Amino acid sequence: MAIHTVLVTGGAGYIGSHACVELLEAGFNVVVVDNLSNSNPESLARVQKLTGKSLAFYEVDIRDKQSLSDIFVKEMPDTVVHFAGLKAVGESCEQPHLYYHNNVFGTLVLTEVMQAHQVKQLVFSSSATVYGITDKTQYSEDLPIGAINPYGRSKAMVEDILRDLAEADKIAKPDKPWKIALLRYFNPIGAHESGLIGEDPNGTPNNLMPYVAQVAIGKLPQLSVFGDDYPTHDGTGIRDYIHVIDLVKGHIKAIHAFNNAHFVEGNCKAYNLGAGRGYSVLEIIKKFEEVTGKTINYKIAPRRPGDLAEYFANPELALQELNWKVEKTLHDMVADTWNWQSKNPQGYR
Ligand code: NAD
Ligand code: UDP
Repeated sequence: MAIHTVLVTGGAGYIGSHACVELLEAGFNVVVVDNLSNSNPESLARVQKLTGKSLAFYEVDIRDKQSLSDIFVKEMPDTVVHFAGLKAVGESCEQPHLYYHNNVFGTLVLTEVMQAHQVKQLVFSSSATVYGITDKTQYSEDLPIGAINPYGRSKAMVEDILRDLAEADKIAKPDKPWKIALLRYFNPIGAHESGLIGEDPNGTPNNLMPYVAQVAIGKLPQLSVFGDDYPTHDGTGIRDYIHVIDLVKGHIKAIHAFNNAHFVEGNCKAYNLGAGRGYSVLEIIKKFEEVTGKTINYKIAPRRPGDLAEYFANPELALQELNWKVEKTLHDMVADTWNWQSKNPQGYR
């Protein structure tokens, strides 16, 4: 196989750094573009230590068209995996302009540069938040899109833009049509089993798993369980948690799938990346206590505005067309989170 070069936007971040490990181990050349707005370059030093392989890193904002274009000229990638973006729902409600500028305009600049250099294979980090409120708890890709906050809408808008790009190629019939995988992540947690890389949130975490881990290590005094009166088996919210390593393996599978029948004609397809089953907040706490031997101090608090009771993926399409499914268990997710947190109580700092 010819060696391919993958440009990874947002490669210094949580999911991006794990993707860099898997890409390097799968034999790809890796070029990272990250403005470090929510990450530390130490993650990339550790990726290289872990794999014994080197990658190219550019501290560049993807909205800086000239710098991005220069990187394409120098590195000649054939595929882009696009993680760069802002991801905090609450912040997106307070600063929608920031989110649309970064996530939507950033992707416009990226795809313009890609098109100009005839690089037309793209894997995009979408999210289960693009699905709106529905009476279904299991989400399939054909459900209508109806994001309910600016972050989710920024992802939905990018999906629309990318679908339109691929559609235009069906009419124009260029030699090299776009091939785009929209990967809709459910709830990524966990860390690389080495404990060298993991999730390092700025300030107090918004998400359940890093919050629980910081309570366990004594950095935070108490977890608030947001609601115990949902119509679920124990009253707490249910989500589809997925190990970050399983998640990033889905990206490699998507790159390989660009050569299969689903992508031979210019195409843009959405795939759920989830396990297909959910766990409640109390089940996560219980498993964390069981695996680590620590007691998690928690209290029941009011519901968090905007939260749904329960949802999880239908991951069948990814199995059929990408030959991907999760392999790791909740035990792995918790054990690897704890391994990372206990070895790096201050994250990368
Ligand atoms: P992260 O914040 O750890 O990583 C994102 C990276 O992108 C950071 O290193 C940041 O510095 C960089 N970045 C942001 N804006 C940039 C810009 N304009 N130019 C260059 N670099 C930029 O987040 P993550 O958890 O690794 O998420 C990666 C992607 O996956 C994001 O697009 C996010 O929306 C999406 N996603 C994440 C989750 C999740 O729960 N973590 C769920 C669904 C989707
Ligand atoms: N949650 C909680 N306390 C927290 C953070 C989250 O009870 O401090 C709950 C939240 O209400 C949801 C689940 O944990 O039911 C997962 O939330 P998270 O923010 O991790 O992911 P989301 O699915 O909201 O993107």
